[in-house]
Amino acid sequence: MPVDYPTVSPLSCGFLSPPAWKFVADAKNEEKLTMPSMAFLIQHPASKSNVVFDLSIRKDLTKYHPELQKHIATRDPISSERDVKSALALGHLDTSEVDYVIMSHVHWDHVGTPSDFPNATFIAGPNTNKLLRNEMGPDLFNPYFEPDLLPADRTIETPPTPNSGSSEVFDAKHGWHWQNVALIPSAIDMFNDGTVYIVNSPGHVPGHLNVLVRIAGDRWVYLAADACHHARILKGEVDFGTWKDKNGRTVTIHHDLDAAYSTLNIMRRLQENGLDGVPVEVILAHDGAWEKENAKFFFPNHL
Ligand SMILES: [Zn+2]
Repeated sequence: MPVDYPTVSPLSCGFLSPPAWKFVADAKNEEKLTMPSMAFLIQHPASKSNVVFDLSIRKDLTKYHPELQKHIATRDPISSERDVKSALALGHLDTSEVDYVIMSHVHWDHVGTPSDFPNATFIAGPNTNKLLRNEMGPDLFNPYFEPDLLPADRTIETPPTPNSGSSEVFDAKHGWHWQNVALIPSAIDMFNDGTVYIVNSPGHVPGHLNVLVRIAGDRWVYLAADACHHARILKGEVDFGTWKDKNGRTVTIHHDLDAAYSTLNIMRRLQENGLDGVPVEVILAHDGAWEKENAKFFFPNHL
């Protein structure tokens, strides 16, 4: 039987401008990087499911917690005029038709407006709820998390990943469990058909998730969110930016640097060698050059 592959449509949303030294080691002093915060619509025809990966920047910036608003003010120029809801409307898809929202992580520039999605089940990585309760220690890049961000009765937080091999089924309704997929240590086969995987991608912030989608017999796309912020890092041309925190410790934008490097290495190997011989394109949430080059594939079109 021929496989009806899912489609992936990038969504055209807002942009922000953080200092470049937070990301790349060779940034100039006052340099800022104006970057999109891309979200993606994944349509899975066999189950007729609409999945959104990440919700980008909230349209109404005044609806962020005041601590976040202070932080966001340092990210100018910023635009939130286009959000995921308006990007979906370009293809006449209403947010009420979205079945799943996968959060790569809960930093402000990825969380959007969850209340726009009244029928969606939210999927978040290990320890996300603890992070949202501000119980995981300070976060230099998101000075406050909103504890009530996700609807408790419609959110599935994935459990921690096993040290190796498969985990028990943790969600009986979907049959979800962690399993390894080629060189990826832990992933969830979302529709149990090998086309959409939720990938554990630790390093940037606790609970960070990526998504791997088979869009054709000869093509995968790997949505890398904030596992890497710049294409030059992925290519190996420059390292992560570092700086000293107020205690004099050298830090990077990734809270667990060892994990961030191993996630990055997996992404590089996927991009170089493919997955079981099938090419993989790795797409970073904040890659402005990729957004420009691929403008014609944005929703209502697809990759
Ligand atoms: Zn981000």
